[in-house]
Amino acid sequence: MAPPVTIRDIKVLTTQPAGSHLIVVKVITSEPGLYGLGCATFTQRQHAVIAALEKHIVPFMLGRDVSRIEETWQMAMVHGYWRNGPVLNNAISGVDMALWDIKGKQAGMPVYQLLGGKCREAAAVYVHADGRDPREVEDNVRKFMAEGYRTIRIQMGGYGGRGAQLRRPEGAPDGAYYDPRSYMRNMLRMMEHIRSTVGEEIELVHDVHERLSPIDAVQFAKDVERFKLFFLEDALAPEDIAWFARIREQCATPIAMGELFNNPHEWQPLIAGRLIDFVRMHVSQMGGLTPARHVAAFAGMFGVRTAWHGPGDVSPVGHAANLHLDLWAPNFGIQEWCRFPDLVYEMFPGTPEVRNGYLYPNDRPGLGIDVDEKLAAHYPLVDEVERWTQARLPDGTPARP
Ligand code: MG
Repeated sequence: MAPPVTIRDIKVLTTQPAGSHLIVVKVITSEPGLYGLGCATFTQRQHAVIAALEKHIVPFMLGRDVSRIEETWQMAMVHGYWRNGPVLNNAISGVDMALWDIKGKQAGMPVYQLLGGKCREAAAVYVHADGRDPREVEDNVRKFMAEGYRTIRIQMGGYGGRGAQLRRPEGAPDGAYYDPRSYMRNMLRMMEHIRSTVGEEIELVHDVHERLSPIDAVQFAKDVERFKLFFLEDALAPEDIAWFARIREQCATPIAMGELFNNPHEWQPLIAGRLIDFVRMHVSQMGGLTPARHVAAFAGMFGVRTAWHGPGDVSPVGHAANLHLDLWAPNFGIQEWCRFPDLVYEMFPGTPEVRNGYLYPNDRPGLGIDVDEKLAAHYPLVDEVERWTQARLPDGTPARP
């Protein structure tokens, strides 16, 4: 038997072409010219992931047989003894996705073939419409409908509640203020407007972004039931998941959850209890393609569909990984899509493309994506202390962003 192909080197590539701090891992093998790419992006704590990779994960990985993806992932997860945190999960994901990319290249097949083949030709996506008032949201919804999108996330004023600044107490610090109660009222007004003007044919998604108290989230899920959303996202914070049972027993609003999840204990009870309808994990945050594949199969047994997190702080490599899961999973629901600018397509050749509301793969072996390292280097990370995550309630109390 020929000696195994092994991991010869790992490069941690960083770039910031469009706002988010992107981290892409390049696993270089002992076979000349054979390498793979993976996403390790945690945009708010990028240097922690870079250090975790360079100081811990890269030395652990060097010399390993690239064919043993599952064994490598299992060992990487327990090797640090303490586990299931966002920094290490992202670092491990970078290598895990790259190993799937390599296996696909070795087989001469796209990764969705390795997973079991396609259940569909392309993944239906949803995009984000926003606006300062209900009319502006409507205009943006209509613009996306004209481009062929059939599912659209509707928000107003970002994650809502602008105006809370006006009521803060004297001496209150700066911050990204919001008012959960006025947010609830404004969103109901906006959804009423969209349904009454745009009609019933378009599918609507809304993201609460965990900005409500648990009992208000229960009320809100009941209030929006009449708008027949495709799903209501992050109605509760991960810390409050025990409240999902309260929502379930009071309304039939479809529930999506998971972009902040790190630990199997966060998604297992929600899936097994049939308390949510869509799993939305950030695939690099949960540790890569290997655990996402397991969770998709587990969720499918309970009638729960996938809707992997897909904003701009997932690298194009991560979006490619999402798409391969989407094409395969029998219980695929929908894919969030962030509409990358042209620069990103130039920097990451093979980035998936949307046509008429569907995201298409390119059918090249592996993940089907590459990176122009010279171009990426022209857009280095810019360090700053993030402001939008310094959220506050009207009286100045620190709050979830
Ligand atoms: Mg979200």
